[in-house]
Amino acid sequence: MPDGWSWPFRCSSCGREYPREALPFRCAVCGGHYDLADPLRYAPIPVPGLERYRNSFPLPPGARLLSLGEGGTPLVGQEIEGKRVFFKCEYLNPTGSFKDRGTAVLISALAAAQVVEAIEDSSGNAGASFAAYAARAGIRAKVYMPDSASGPKRAQIEAYGAEVVPILGPRSEAAQAVVRAAEAGSVYASHAYLPQILAGMATFAFELVEQLGRAPAALVLPVGQGTLLLGAQLGFQALARQNLIQEIPQLIGVQARACAPLWAVHEAGMAGLGWVQEGQTLAEGIRILNPLRGDAVLAAVDATQGGVEVVEESEIPAGRRALAERGFFVEPTSAVVWSALLRRLPDLPEPIVAVLTGSGYKSAWNGA
Ligand SMILES: [Zn+2]
Repeated sequence: MPDGWSWPFRCSSCGREYPREALPFRCAVCGGHYDLADPLRYAPIPVPGLERYRNSFPLPPGARLLSLGEGGTPLVGQEIEGKRVFFKCEYLNPTGSFKDRGTAVLISALAAAQVVEAIEDSSGNAGASFAAYAARAGIRAKVYMPDSASGPKRAQIEAYGAEVVPILGPRSEAAQAVVRAAEAGSVYASHAYLPQILAGMATFAFELVEQLGRAPAALVLPVGQGTLLLGAQLGFQALARQNLIQEIPQLIGVQARACAPLWAVHEAGMAGLGWVQEGQTLAEGIRILNPLRGDAVLAAVDATQGGVEVVEESEIPAGRRALAERGFFVEPTSAVVWSALLRRLPDLPEPIVAVLTGSGYKSAWNGA
């Protein structure tokens, strides 16, 4: 790291600054997660893709942004029940999901810190994105996952050259194994914990406002950990502070009923936790029982007069089919936005943007 430069992060619980020398995923003193210490600033440079926003990223001076061409995703307007809805096609990012915005910034940070090996515990979109950018950076990637994990996402992770560390038992065992490895000194490139991810996600808001020529009035997107929702909020806040937009859009998160902790607490407060289960769902990408920044996600939807919508399991394949019939081939997790959008549509202010987060190529079709 350059002399005098330190990571601009602060523990969300005890306020301690991020250490200069190690790369912990959480505060070593209190276990809290780190957030960005300062508000983001919108200061684009005239180049395409994520590089355009590199002045907004918490990277040391002179650090390279290790890009695979992420960002610059299409915004496609269609008429739905008399309203104009814009679909932001995040599934067209290099590894097929929105995760690449965050991963490009995170892996660039690790490369700037001369990390040679890093670990992850996602067998889904975050794992695939991590494996691709680690390959780009020449960082050895190890991905801890349940030994039962299979399918196109595991194949994608292995194709990028990551080492799969199979862990017996459910998903939570893999999560515990990666934390043990991180505590033993491995660099844990966690999508949920590390604040570089949020800075990368903020580019979603910057790009969207540039494409629309204004802020949307409502934004509908799937939420699991909520990193895209929170990153987008940071981006919109930066634009509002600089008087480049008038208002921050209503943020409407969508969950699957089978695992809907944010919806439950939003509807019923802490009593809602009694409803929360980690049920089986086709929307595996948002099956997150304890979102790390759940309180912040709920505060964001309340602050913007948005909300949390829930969809039934039967609506997910139907939504996937409806989106495909409009030309959008997305995975089941992304398809939750369709039913939520239709339910909310009569009350949503325009312009409306729905986010399509992950590619249909990542999941078997089965006639949906
Ligand atoms: Zn702390």
